[in-house]
Amino acid sequence: MRLNRFEFFNPSSLLEIFDLLARYGKDVRLIAGGTDLLVQMKQKLVLPQKLINLLALPGLRGIERDGDSLRIGALARHADIERSTLLKNGWKLLALAAHKIGSPQIRHLGTLGGNLCNGSPSADTASPLLVLKAQVCLASGRGERRLPLESFFTGPGETVLEKDEVLKEVIVPKPPVNSSFSYLKLGRRKSMDLGLVSAAVLLTVDPGRGSFEEVRIALGSVSPTPIRIRETERVFEGKPVDEDMIRQAAGLAQKECQPISDIRASAEYRREMVKVLVERAIKAALGLPIPPTGI
Ligand SMILES: Cc1cc2nc3c(=O)[nH]c(=O)nc-3n(C[C@H](O)[C@H](O)[C@H](O)COP(=O)(O)OP(=O)(O)OC[C@H]3O[C@@H](n4cnc5c(N)ncnc54)[C@H](O)[C@@H]3O)c2cc1C
Repeated sequence: MRLNRFEFFNPSSLLEIFDLLARYGKDVRLIAGGTDLLVQMKQKLVLPQKLINLLALPGLRGIERDGDSLRIGALARHADIERSTLLKNGWKLLALAAHKIGSPQIRHLGTLGGNLCNGSPSADTASPLLVLKAQVCLASGRGERRLPLESFFTGPGETVLEKDEVLKEVIVPKPPVNSSFSYLKLGRRKSMDLGLVSAAVLLTVDPGRGSFEEVRIALGSVSPTPIRIRETERVFEGKPVDEDMIRQAAGLAQKECQPISDIRASAEYRREMVKVLVERAIKAALGLPIPPTGI
């Protein structure tokens, strides 16, 4: 599979990028690591005549603390996220998920921004960032806007990004004190595979009462976009930490997803696995033993 011919731009500032986006409109695409886009170009799913390279941009690769929040530049690679010592406590959930992406080669090329802007329901960084209540900062020649990641995805391969916008950074607020977390990804093999179902959990427990305080759950690959399952989350809150209760509540998660059948798994299998993964993800976050779950 060969790539079509295209013109390649190497701008070194956001202003130059805005100018190119305004000038070339629908003929142009942004490229970061290229691990999604080049595959799509080889498969002729997209045929841009011009590519704007984001990787020459200074300043969008950093990971830094800003008060109580963490700011992650859109060009941070998964390998940067995996290794950053700033991702402590609840933020570590994102590092766990980044570690499950592709292979070391893919993680050294692929960026956080590319993973989110590609809009795949199976993007591994999406569900951890949803339970972390992340926000995205989108920039264009018209200015900047900031919105919750939850309103960023609109459908498979679709986001609210306008043609003239660039994802600049992701802002992740401080997770609740004493939160515990887990990220489980069910796949057909141990690496280089997209998740058939994935589940991110972030929760807090009231140690005095032995009950769930706050439970946040997000799922990947089982709906047109990565989703929070709020009805299931609410069922946990205030309930005692008890294995039977966890199993029953996990069953409700199935009602909140709309999996499809595709080349990798049937909708029925995915729906069944939602129950299994949610139960195991809650248990894993609580430090309870679980059987191995795919990758
Ligand atoms: C072999 C292989 C294995 C993989 N395994 C996994 C996996 O396990 N889990 C997983 O989640 N993904 C996986 N992927 C997909 C891919 O590696 C990730 O989604 C990666 O994070 C994409 O980042 P990128 O920088 O390469 O994006 P690119 O391919 O450069 O861009 C992807 C899309 O986002 C747009 N874009 C990129 N950056 C920005 C920005 N800052 N602002 C606006 N638009 C932007 C581009 O225009 C393009 O449409 C795999 C890919 C391959 C080839």
